[in-house]
Amino acid sequence: MKPVIALVGRPNVGKSTLFNKLTQTRDAIVADYAGLTRDRHYGSGKHGKQEFIAIDTGGFEPKAESGIYKEMAKQTRQAVAESDVVIFMVDARDGLSAQDHDIAQYLRKLGKPVLLAANKAEGMKASAQLADFYELGLGQVHPISAAHGQGVGDLLDMALEPLNLPDIEDTLEEKPDVIKLAVAGRPNAGKSTLINTWLGEERLVAFDLPGTTRDAISVEFERKGQKYEIIDTAGLRKKGKVFEAIEKFSVVKTLQAIEDANVVVLLIDATQGVTDQDAHIAGFILEAGRAVVVAVNKWDAIDDYQREILRRSIEMRLVFLKFADIHYISAKKRQGLGPLWTSINKAYTSAYCKMSTPKLTRLIQEAVQFQAPKRHGMYRPKLRYAHQGGTNPPVVVVHGNSLEGVTDAYKRYLDGRIRKAFDLKGTPLRVEMKTSH
Ligand code: GDP
Ligand code: GDP
Repeated sequence: MKPVIALVGRPNVGKSTLFNKLTQTRDAIVADYAGLTRDRHYGSGKHGKQEFIAIDTGGFEPKAESGIYKEMAKQTRQAVAESDVVIFMVDARDGLSAQDHDIAQYLRKLGKPVLLAANKAEGMKASAQLADFYELGLGQVHPISAAHGQGVGDLLDMALEPLNLPDIEDTLEEKPDVIKLAVAGRPNAGKSTLINTWLGEERLVAFDLPGTTRDAISVEFERKGQKYEIIDTAGLRKKGKVFEAIEKFSVVKTLQAIEDANVVVLLIDATQGVTDQDAHIAGFILEAGRAVVVAVNKWDAIDDYQREILRRSIEMRLVFLKFADIHYISAKKRQGLGPLWTSINKAYTSAYCKMSTPKLTRLIQEAVQFQAPKRHGMYRPKLRYAHQGGTNPPVVVVHGNSLEGVTDAYKRYLDGRIRKAFDLKGTPLRVEMKTSH
């Protein structure tokens, strides 16, 4: 199936000129006045080895109420509906018009990839005159000259490359129904107290997970409609109905529990502060790519002054878990446990978040627009598009050229923008760079 590109824009922005360029035909009439090309035109084109179909839509009046304009709007909507990607053309010389805003509003709602092309940009000093078009909220503005063929190749790269990706979203691992939960922390942090407090909660319903070999120590329960399994947590033993701390702390057991979990609650003992051992466990969690919530336990046992000091030392020593929620709780006094559940659930949802290729791609392009990566040697890294490469933790693969020059600082910048856009909380996120050719 050849991908379909729809050219959309108000009359006279240069759609048929670009259409001709793309399809190398001369059958669309180009004239120097508005509204001449009224028909929808279809044609095939080729970019490198990639064949595609282009649709030239008539002058687009999304708000047309009657007559020929209404008919045109209907046809255009149909063309857009049939397309895989939309090139929305505006006139770089005329600047923004009210009609551009109407069209943009319509396109934003579609949820399709849209590339914003500012045509007639030949010989223009790019940034200043094009800045206005960012108001349309469609991300990066691509200056082109349809008449002179400038920028058209890059535009096609942008339009077609993401379409060649397999349907990645469908191949990503689905969120399992049961959240596997591990409570990790040093001996005496209060792990067994916390778990037993949980198990003693009234709204908690124990159940047997069907079809699994029951681990001696795992416990399943349901809380507010969500199922959880507390997995074999290092340093704990189940005795009868309750958990009991055992003497030996085992690094291997801790690691296994973390690997096996979907969400790890890292329990810190407020009376001891953040110890090296806590920092090591945090490091394991990060390396394993697990979602995590930090719970500082025994908050009842320290005074305000100590609390303030502890807050700061957590910020300093666990900077690399900045993405995680922190709760100050008392397992013994049952304080702060509700918000802890909220964070556990949120971390879990974030770990299995699905990010669509068009949304990610637009996000990357906007990020570049806001702050471009620094030149690396001769070349400036060029970020083109992105797709999701995995869940739990989410992986974002960015494609482009000269990406080996993208600095760690820039990756952190992208990390922040992705987290914000997809509302990720409590999960590590991996951003990978993939240079083509
Ligand atoms: P449409 O109504 O959107 O299909 O626009 P047309 O393709 O018919 O172009 C409208 C006018 O803009 C024509 O006079 C074209 O020659 C002119 N035009 C199209 N592309 C460019 C360009 O890249 N630069 C300049 N300067 N004029 C262009
Ligand atoms: P584990 O080794 O991590 O499983 O720790 P435990 O649950 O056995 O708790 C160790 C000690 O800390 C016990 O004496 C608990 O009573 C005490 N403890 C646990 N949670 C709290 C708390 O929230 N506040 C206070 N003050 N003590 C607690």
